[in-house]
Amino acid sequence: MPDEKKNDEEKQPGVASDVAALLTGLKTTLGETFRPVVTTMYPEDKTTRSERYRGRHYLRRYDNGLERCIGCELCAAACPVGCILVIAAENTDENRVSPGERYAKTYEINMLRCIFCGYCEEACPVQAIVLGPEYELSDTSRERFIYTKEKLLEPLPPDVQARLDAQEKEKK
Ligand code: SF4
Ligand code: SF4
Repeated sequence: MPDEKKNDEEKQPGVASDVAALLTGLKTTLGETFRPVVTTMYPEDKTTRSERYRGRHYLRRYDNGLERCIGCELCAAACPVGCILVIAAENTDENRVSPGERYAKTYEINMLRCIFCGYCEEACPVQAIVLGPEYELSDTSRERFIYTKEKLLEPLPPDVQARLDAQEKEKK
């Protein structure tokens, strides 16, 4: 028995090792104290979105003001959750909305269903629908989450426009 007691005492950490562990912890604390603060004071400050980030949608126009969308419904067909509604109508000489034969008389996206996969953007043959970087999409009623054509035709944020311009340059 005395031998066992002696072995247990030998296994107990000494004061020196406790102090060493404490100093190691303090060193970490002090090291972090003098590092630059990484906390972002959201919502006043916002972090930069990745270029690949996809948030709210926009419908684009050509430089002459005509809408790009030709009402082909390919975006609606590609959408895995069926949240796009397109109702097309014919362009006429008196009422030309897009350069094609047809235009989207109604274009709506139910943002409550959208999973921001970007398939609609990829499916569009004329790059009419694009996803921008906005992620603050909360609202106060279900109805306000149905984005109408009027809302979707709001001007593109400058960073989205710059991305699209760069993509178009690459294609040339
Ligand atoms: S991002 Fe995806 S889920 Fe959202 S509207 Fe486009 S295809 Fe549908
Ligand atoms: S947004 Fe593009 S894919 Fe969708 S209906 Fe218009 S032209 Fe067709």
